[in-house]
Amino acid sequence: MGTGICMVDLKGQYLKIKDEVDAGIRNVLETSSFINGPAVRKFRDDLGKYLGGTNVITCANGTDALQIALMALGLKPGDEVIVPAFTYVSSAEVIGLLGLVPVMVDVDPDTFNVTADNISKALTPATRAIIPVHLFGQSCDMEPILEFAGRHGLHVIEDNAQAIGAEYTFSDGRKAKTGTMGTIGCTSFFPSKNLGCYGDGGAVFCSDGSLAEKISMIANHGQKIKYHHSVIGCNSRLDTIQAAVLEAKLPHLDEYSHARREAADYYDMRLREMDPSGKHYRLPARQKNSTHVWHQYTLKITEGKRDGLKAFLEKLGIPSMIYYPLPLQDQEAFKGIARAAEDLSNARECASSVLSLPMHTELTHEIQDVVIDGIRQFFRL
Ligand SMILES: *Cc1c(COP(=O)(O)O)cnc(C)c1O
Repeated sequence: MGTGICMVDLKGQYLKIKDEVDAGIRNVLETSSFINGPAVRKFRDDLGKYLGGTNVITCANGTDALQIALMALGLKPGDEVIVPAFTYVSSAEVIGLLGLVPVMVDVDPDTFNVTADNISKALTPATRAIIPVHLFGQSCDMEPILEFAGRHGLHVIEDNAQAIGAEYTFSDGRKAKTGTMGTIGCTSFFPSKNLGCYGDGGAVFCSDGSLAEKISMIANHGQKIKYHHSVIGCNSRLDTIQAAVLEAKLPHLDEYSHARREAADYYDMRLREMDPSGKHYRLPARQKNSTHVWHQYTLKITEGKRDGLKAFLEKLGIPSMIYYPLPLQDQEAFKGIARAAEDLSNARECASSVLSLPMHTELTHEIQDVVIDGIRQFFRL
């Protein structure tokens, strides 16, 4: 049965800003400045301002951003980097790629985010850095994480691929955008991310000027002066065409977050009405001290019925996704490379119960009603 419902609606979003995007792309074609053109510089500056005044170094994708961040910190093989066990593979993959040791720790079962408490249990004399991931669109509780890192001299690299635009409030009332609180922040502009381009893209944020310069060098073959290479780097760039797309979308980012928040509120309201005691599913918890930009709207389905519900919805033509079905400690790639915390039961329980519903900027109540009705039919509510 074709409902036409999608997890994300990039076409609908594009049509609303078509003139701005098309003009930006046409301008790149006309100037033919495809690599490091003016749109790249402009986008970097504008994103830095949006984030409250930080240096932005663009690169080829979010995974590269994390790799470049780790390279810039001068870590040595065997150094340990703490990472949540329940996340996308990139956050840990780059640790292994650089010969460092990923140390996987458990997450909070309600917010899905890593906590200072989980991190502190994994500390050893070899620990050098922490990669908190702001999963599904809300900030980790950063204040205790930053305090812990400060006390033990650890670097903090925020994986902000899913939460760009979210804001964290410190206990003294100070507010900061996710990705700007740690030593370095990283993001992805993959098309389906909250700020996505029309291909691959990524960026690194760093308010420390000299570290930002090093990051910029590493992303560009380790050179500051052309053909003079002072460190081993890589080749990781954001195309000018992608920068033009992002430059057209950035002014809309807060509207997009708002549209997602409205859609999440509507799911919450209708789904709570249908199952007030939370017998069949649990609604996504909201992290205190953080706004939520709803990269995903993720339920926890109880009583082992997640896979059944997913298959049932699929038959009705309603898409849903499992982010993520296998926690990192159970991934074959990390066998013999990673160290896992003793207790990863929350990560395992999340992986077996989460289900993400369609979430994007073009959702209407009518579309959401079809999704909600599918869930109602399955549970006979
Ligand atoms: C998407 C994502 C990445 C990687 O981004 P790419 O641009 O696909 O390389 C890294 N971390 C998280 C949490 C992500 O969701």
